[in-house]
Amino acid sequence: MDIKKLNEGLLGRLNPRIATWLFNRFKNMPVVERKVEQEFDNLLGDLEAVVKPYRQQFDIYAAIPDTGREASAIIAEMQALSDLEQPKWKDGYASGAVYHGDAAHIDFLNQVYTINSQSNPLHTDLWPSSAKYESEIVSMTARMLGAGPQADAAGSDRGICGVVTSGGTESILLAMKTYRDWARDQKNITQPEIIVPVSAHAAFDKAAEYFKIDIKRIPVAADYRADVTAAREAITRRTIALIGSAPCFPHGVVDPIEELSEMAREKGVGFHTDACLGGFVLPWAEQLGYAVPLFDFRLPGVTSISADTHKYGYAAKGTSVILYRNSDLRRYQYFTTTEWPGGLYFSPTFAGSRPGALSAACWAAMIKIGKDGYLAATRKILEAAATIKKGIQDIPELYILGDPLWVIAFGSRTLDIYQVMDYLTTRRWSLNGLHHPACVHLCVTLRHTQPGVTERFIHDLRAAVDFVRKNPDHSGTMAPIYGLAANLPVRSLVGDLLKRYIDLLYKV
Ligand SMILES: *Cc1c(COP(=O)(O)O)cnc(C)c1O
Repeated sequence: MDIKKLNEGLLGRLNPRIATWLFNRFKNMPVVERKVEQEFDNLLGDLEAVVKPYRQQFDIYAAIPDTGREASAIIAEMQALSDLEQPKWKDGYASGAVYHGDAAHIDFLNQVYTINSQSNPLHTDLWPSSAKYESEIVSMTARMLGAGPQADAAGSDRGICGVVTSGGTESILLAMKTYRDWARDQKNITQPEIIVPVSAHAAFDKAAEYFKIDIKRIPVAADYRADVTAAREAITRRTIALIGSAPCFPHGVVDPIEELSEMAREKGVGFHTDACLGGFVLPWAEQLGYAVPLFDFRLPGVTSISADTHKYGYAAKGTSVILYRNSDLRRYQYFTTTEWPGGLYFSPTFAGSRPGALSAACWAAMIKIGKDGYLAATRKILEAAATIKKGIQDIPELYILGDPLWVIAFGSRTLDIYQVMDYLTTRRWSLNGLHHPACVHLCVTLRHTQPGVTERFIHDLRAAVDFVRKNPDHSGTMAPIYGLAANLPVRSLVGDLLKRYIDLLYKV
């Protein structure tokens, strides 16, 4: 870690008095500097074995081998790796991650992939099937999310439309780029800003950073849903779009999309519903009679929606859908160039070549499952989630944040919740650690609807709470990292730690 660079960065950004104070503090305290660096080294040293568990048992390929290996040997080795990793997610120990995961469904997706493995939507002449699959994925998703039948008319200038992307992050990045270019063209906004609840996905920060859009984070209310008043106060002439989540990733609660999107409509700015997580759950939950607030295109102010087919759409990883209110807006997403010696070139998303097989698998998943399949899956998930919520509520040391349907965040007012999470890790559970406030969540999927899984979770959670109550000073793997992250006053140091972690991932 380069404290000097860090200080230069700080001096550039902060009010000079504070910056000077910080600078002197660090300059005069090499002990602190060394301590932080040492702390990082210790943490990452501990993590290295966790991140790279195969170094001892498997050959390492730092360079292309001199002679190619036998296919069967490679398959056997990869099978061995997969066998080591499969039980954890397959048996329902993970939060989110694998949303369907039944063996028969996986086999079906694999079969579809095999048939389409060479397909590339960039080459529409070779694979017009890709365009068929993708246009139908978009149309099916749009119809599920409140579009009228006009969305069927492929290529029509009216009606809700969209494109298939590689995942939720790409859907969000594309939407934000679209609003930026739309606002520049239509409203002459050259310093765009978006208004985003703190609970909205990090992909909005990523979009802001990549596309030089200012991001205004607004707080959530006591129920963890976006604060509507704060949103109203945040809107300026530079605002290009407001964002709401249905539901948000951390706490699984749905923002007041109706009020927010109406506000956006009155002000003539875009409104994006991030339904990456809920797009393929909430419509079915509503049909099942659960209390689901409106979040989709039935609200006139909603101008775009992201919905992840690779989550509760039960497709293979690598697809999502970004929908727009009309194709005028969608056009700001497209890229075309007419003067490149390589020919007339266009692409709808960030990538050039794309894996057509993933779109094929997505299409196949959607029509194999059907409305009846999505309804049945959603019913099972929401029932399992209700059991888990009840189990958590029955543990006096814990409390649930907000009123979620199936992504259940819980914290504790008396125990270190990260120690609870660490204990659960020793029982093979893999939950998500969250902060501001400190809590963890379990995102319930079909994996948790298998017999015995919810019971096992509640049993292990009780044991974890018991253990932490009796051993409050026991230190696990993640608790010290979250502790450090929460206590470091200079936030860029935390970012520095994360960058070092990514470096570690790329270490052979
Ligand atoms: C998962 C998720 C995203 C991002 O999706 P990726 O597929 O991981 O890129 C965005 N928003 C919400 C609410 C999500 O749950």
